[in-house]
Amino acid sequence: MDNVGCPCCARPVHAPWTLSVTPWRMYRQWRPDGQRPSWSIPLCVECAEWLGGLVAVARGERPAPALFGSPASGTRRLVFDDQCHICFELPYGRAAKVAWIDPEGRKLEMFACDACEAWIASLASDGHTVRGRGDRQIDGPYGYWPHPNLRGITVGFDIADAATLAVVRETCAAMGMADVPSGERIRVVEAVRHGRRESAERPPAVVVLAGPRSRRELLAALESGAAAWSTIPVTPQQLTACFAAVLRAGPPPSWDPASCLAVSLPAETPRASILCHPESGVEPWDVAWLLRRFCRGYDHLAWVNDQIVLVPRAGADLIEAIAARLRPLLAGRATLEVVPAAEMPVHRRLDVAG
Ligand SMILES: [Zn+2]
Ligand SMILES: [Zn+2]
Repeated sequence: MDNVGCPCCARPVHAPWTLSVTPWRMYRQWRPDGQRPSWSIPLCVECAEWLGGLVAVARGERPAPALFGSPASGTRRLVFDDQCHICFELPYGRAAKVAWIDPEGRKLEMFACDACEAWIASLASDGHTVRGRGDRQIDGPYGYWPHPNLRGITVGFDIADAATLAVVRETCAAMGMADVPSGERIRVVEAVRHGRRESAERPPAVVVLAGPRSRRELLAALESGAAAWSTIPVTPQQLTACFAAVLRAGPPPSWDPASCLAVSLPAETPRASILCHPESGVEPWDVAWLLRRFCRGYDHLAWVNDQIVLVPRAGADLIEAIAARLRPLLAGRATLEVVPAAEMPVHRRLDVAG
């Protein structure tokens, strides 16, 4: 193959490797997904190795520090063939065969869950941000966001997943937040079946972190008053956005149980937005989770008029580029439609205090 141009590092170099992705689906057994075609991305030698190295770190085979937002196998072990070979979770419904193919056509293939497939695909198709080669070009100023001043705000953690806890601790420490054993202003919890019982006199604002299979646990936490959520894995930027959201005054939103998204648009609507239409048979939660995982924390995701609406915090001229970046991640799961501000319904909150 004589590919020139590597999408991963965005350099005009020889790209003799191929990352190929074949979506699979659980019918009665795992089989290639009839609705989602295979696709592939050319890679330069350096990027093929870099992506392979990230997978090795996620699998716990290499001690190098993981990238923020990487999956991690944690304490799980790889026992069965149908576990995800990257995070070792058991995929549910959808998965993929992800293969590295070298210039001689030799193949190293892995079975990957939906979330890990999207992770690898997002890095392979646009990895130059995390590789330190500059800002994400297609996003432009969208990539920048000033952090709020959170110095001195107290925070507590109730997180069992070691990799997630490490990212959360490090993020809070970097922003000068104070980690306290009790009486904290903000608590970050993992969506698990048995949360800690509340005993504090003044309950903290709760941020929930949820993996792709924790919808029920997340919903329970939201219904008992949690004010914001993000995914596991989480990035520092997504976490910071959650903190900013829970510290904002105002009543907590109501939540749609199928998607766990807020049933409200930002106050400053209408803005140019992206409507996300799940394909038939795809749960709203699966789409909502992937969007939350791969959007900036400050982008607003909502469930409005029975639809998932993404309102990026970005100028109208950038919305099409953002949709273009998300489309491959949601291929086969949802279609995205960019809607100009003028066509967005004006959403009025009925619960505004007045
Ligand atoms: Zn490259
Ligand atoms: Zn996985």
